[in-house]
Amino acid sequence: MRIVPIDDSVAERDGIGDHTAITTAIAEDARKQGAQVIEGHPVIKLEDDGLSTTVSLENGDAYIGEKGCVVATNTSVRELLVGSFGVDLPIGFAVPMYGILKPVRPFEITALVEDSSQRFALKSIGGNRVMLSGEGRGRWTESGASSDIGAFGLKFADLVARFPQLHDAEIEVIDASRREATTYDGVPIIDRVPGAENVVFATGWNGHGFMIAPAVAEAMTSWIVSDSQPALLRPFALNRFC
Ligand SMILES: Cc1cc2nc3c(=O)[nH]c(=O)nc-3n(C[C@H](O)[C@H](O)[C@H](O)COP(=O)(O)OP(=O)(O)OC[C@H]3O[C@@H](n4cnc5c(N)ncnc54)[C@H](O)[C@@H]3O)c2cc1C
Repeated sequence: MRIVPIDDSVAERDGIGDHTAITTAIAEDARKQGAQVIEGHPVIKLEDDGLSTTVSLENGDAYIGEKGCVVATNTSVRELLVGSFGVDLPIGFAVPMYGILKPVRPFEITALVEDSSQRFALKSIGGNRVMLSGEGRGRWTESGASSDIGAFGLKFADLVARFPQLHDAEIEVIDASRREATTYDGVPIIDRVPGAENVVFATGWNGHGFMIAPAVAEAMTSWIVSDSQPALLRPFALNRFC
């Protein structure tokens, strides 16, 4: 990730990032630092005896968190905390929809472009590809996510009106499989689990969790290591809903 100095009002490439590339790079770096990254085996239960936390996976494996445990699984934080501790969170979810487009000719924008009517947002994500998101949700049913092709078509039409050179761009993917936790006040919830003080959770990003994740991760680490809640995290406490 490149940090760009801000001059008057424009920071080139500010707000632009390829989620997948950044996430895999962070995981790779964590591995280099000695972390064990396990994929494809969901956590099904957490138990806390006041001294340590046991994390049980669907495949039968279990891990002990001696210093603490962070639960940051977006919408499923709610299910995990209800099932493990009987703590229900006041969160709902949204189903953001996005598309990856591959322009026929070289095309790059160096800022996040948002239409003022919020119909679309566009950013370059490398490999001569652009991500189209913004308004227009997918649908969520018991069997999973489905994209709203009609809404995507409207978005695409708005995009082409603004960027005619994208009229023949290939649509690589349309996806609505990433549920996003929402809160009623639009602010995330980051706190200890009442009654299970070794467990800290973070959810309710309302569509803006990626950008603030590095700062949140640093503050949560400091909370667990020092056992003292950073002032930065106080506005995100669960008890604001009580
Ligand atoms: C199309 C789109 C565009 C977005 N654009 C932006 C943006 O421009 N800026 C911004 O800041 N944010 C953006 N967001 C939101 C951002 O991506 C999320 O807020 C952020 O990824 C949340 O991070 P997270 O790690 O908490 O959850 P996620 O990224 O959702 O990751 C949660 C992980 O937990 C795993 N998981 C779930 N349940 C379990 C379980 N039981 N056991 C183990 N693992 C589990 C999931 O498989 C997943 O890998 C966007 C989101 C979408 C979908």
